[in-house]
Amino acid sequence: SITIDDVTKEFGEGAESVVAVDDVSLDIADGEFVVFVGPSGSGKSTLMRIVAGLETQTEGDVEIGDAIVNQLGPRARDIAMVFQNYALYPNMTVEENMSFGLKMSTDMSDDAIEESVTSTAEMMDIGALLDNKPGELSGGQQQRVALGRAIVRDPNVFLMDEPLSNLDAKLRAEMRTEINRLQNDLGVTTLYVTHDQTEAMTMGDRLVVLNYGELQQVGTPLECFYRPENQFVAGFLGSPS
Ligand code: ATP
Ligand code: MG
Repeated sequence: SITIDDVTKEFGEGAESVVAVDDVSLDIADGEFVVFVGPSGSGKSTLMRIVAGLETQTEGDVEIGDAIVNQLGPRARDIAMVFQNYALYPNMTVEENMSFGLKMSTDMSDDAIEESVTSTAEMMDIGALLDNKPGELSGGQQQRVALGRAIVRDPNVFLMDEPLSNLDAKLRAEMRTEINRLQNDLGVTTLYVTHDQTEAMTMGDRLVVLNYGELQQVGTPLECFYRPENQFVAGFLGSPS
C-alpha cells in the first residue's frame, strides 16, 4: 500500500513562495487505481514527483509498503513512471529504450532481458518495431513503447502523469482500455493524473480532486460526481445541480 501522510510541498520562500501541495493525506491500497484531477497548477504533478522520490516534500511522509520514500534510492523503489511526453531516448531503438532500465537497475542476464522485452513488446503490439527509432513511430506507437518500458520493469507501482494527452481521441480511447486491462492483469497499484473528463469518470477505482494543492474530495468517480462535497468539486466535475 501507499500512505501519503500530511504531505506539504512549498516552493521558494517568503512572499514569493508557492504551496504546491497543501497537507495532503491519502491511503492507497495495493492494486488500486486512483485518478487525480484538478486545474492546472493544483499540484498533481508535484504530488506524483514526491511519491516517486524525485522531489522532496517540505513536510510529511510518503510510505510505499514498509519503506519511507525519501530513504530509498530511485532504483530501489520499484516505481515506473509514464509521462505525457514519453521521454523516450531518440537515438536508441525501441528495444534499447525498453531494456535500458533493466540493464541499469537489475542484474538480469542479457538473454533474460531480451526475452522480457520481446514478450512485453508482443503484448503491447509493438513487437515488429523493436529495431526502429522513436522518431520513426507514430504518437500512439511511441506511447505504447513508453508503457512497455514501464511494464517490462515489473514495478509494484505505476505513476502516470497525463500519459494520453498527446494522442487523438480514437487512440486515447483505445489506450484507456489497454491501460485498464494491463493494470487489472498485472495488479499494479496505479496513480494516474488526467485532465480528461472521460478518463476521470471511467478509469479509476477512486477519484481524487485537488485545488490549490488541497485535497477537495476522495471517492468513487460516481460519488464525487453525484455527491460533490463542495462547490468546487461540483463545478469542476460538472455535477448536476
Ligand atoms: P498541470 O495540470 O498544469 O500539469 P499540476 O496540477 O500538475 O498542473 P504542478 O506542476 O504540480 O501542477 O504545480 C503546482 C504549483 O507548484 C504551481 O503553482 C507551479 O507553478 C508550482 N511549481 C511546480 N514546480 C515548481 C518548481 N520546480 N519551482 C517552483 N514552483 C513550482
Ligand atoms: Mg502536471
